[in-house]
Amino acid sequence: MKIAVAGTGYVGLITGVCLAEMGHRVICTDIMEEKIQLLKTGRSPIFEPGLEQMLKNNLLSGRLAFTVNPKIAYKDAEIIFIAVGTPENHDGTSNLDYVHAAAYSIGICIENDVIVCTKSTVPVGTNEKIKEIIQSVKPPPHQAEVVSNPEFLREGSAIIDFFNGDRIILGTNSKSAAAKLEELYLPLKIPIIKTDMRSAEMIKYASNAFLAAKISFINEIAAICEKTGANIEEVAYGIGKDKRIGPYFLQAGIGYGGSCFPKDTKALVKLAGNVQHKFELLESVIKVNNRQQTLAVSLAKNILGSLEGKRVALLGLAFKPDTDDVREAASLMIAKRLLENNASVIAYDPAAVPNARKVLRDAIEYTMNVQIALENADLAIIATEWEQIKHFPLELYTERMKSPVIIDGRNCYSLRDISRHSISYISIGRPYII
Ligand code: NAD
Repeated sequence: MKIAVAGTGYVGLITGVCLAEMGHRVICTDIMEEKIQLLKTGRSPIFEPGLEQMLKNNLLSGRLAFTVNPKIAYKDAEIIFIAVGTPENHDGTSNLDYVHAAAYSIGICIENDVIVCTKSTVPVGTNEKIKEIIQSVKPPPHQAEVVSNPEFLREGSAIIDFFNGDRIILGTNSKSAAAKLEELYLPLKIPIIKTDMRSAEMIKYASNAFLAAKISFINEIAAICEKTGANIEEVAYGIGKDKRIGPYFLQAGIGYGGSCFPKDTKALVKLAGNVQHKFELLESVIKVNNRQQTLAVSLAKNILGSLEGKRVALLGLAFKPDTDDVREAASLMIAKRLLENNASVIAYDPAAVPNARKVLRDAIEYTMNVQIALENADLAIIATEWEQIKHFPLELYTERMKSPVIIDGRNCYSLRDISRHSISYISIGRPYII
């Protein structure tokens, strides 16, 4: 099929590259010229395992192309995916400017009947608006059928997730559009759920809100474990064995971050508010997460007293491992709080330093070497569970640091391993080793 993708971010680029890998002819467009220039040379603007090789292969095969010109991308596409950003507005609502602009541009540029498929996470009712915008510039007899096809990939395993998702949601009232997309997705052998547009839009928000709730729930239990002498890992394992609960998303830590959960939970609270429903449970989920994101700094103050003049090694900047994305990462919040307390910070990350530097600039030091980060540090705070951190030899903390104190925000090490070294170790929901 001839496919166009609007937006070459985490979702759009993965979608475009993977559809080309499936054998379709794909052309991706973006408003950022520098991204498109880079992509044309076979280099990826984002770090995602396996992406760059697949990008190069498909460029070479001629199935994949990039352009800044939306007319070239859209004019004879059979399906156009909208995968542009929907960032948070100041009031927590979802900013739909990019989605509306993409819809307008599609309306201007299409020359044939087309299916417009929205992957961006958008509030209930947005896909109807997309159709309205397209029709306002390209009225019938032109047909633009709109399908809500929310995306569930996880950064860090996005390619695996594209080919092995749990389900594909198709929300549309057009039988022909649903059939065409079923045909597109059929080779993936992933269960397809066909529904109406509004339910499809809500499925995405409800999924993210539920997962965020699981994280905040386990973090609340972790806080009680710490005070009662229970161990959150034993507890999470015990409850996760119940099939009704399941073992996933029960890792206690310093909270969720990233470009989805924080903004999507807030947007759902707003969406509920717009229909006079106070979503109290989700408001609490958000509140608990905000507390978790700064927990490491409160713990640091409890242990070291004043942080003034202390050197802190911040291990991990990405909001989770295997990505370079730092949007809403706990690490950024921690770094800011440490600086407010007049500590000096050196941060380690194997992939996210360039993105973190755009936010924190020269306020902290950066390194891609854990040992350099630890050199003469008074404290190490682990913010991301990178494999490089999980497998870092514990004796090097004792060798490199001034005094080996670790606040492990991701429970990377077993208490048994830690107890073999003279390290003060505070993790989340487990007994402290001091
Ligand atoms: P992103 O910020 O990485 O990328 C968005 C891209 O869209 C940018 O490159 C931007 O320049 C481009 N863009 C903006 N307006 C455009 C236009 N009119 N035409 C063409 N390109 C345009 O965003 P992302 O992380 O890929 O997320 C995209 C959407 O998917 C969001 O709604 C997000 O909530 C949702 N989502 C993201 C993830 C994730 O893990 N990142 C997972 C599921 C769903």
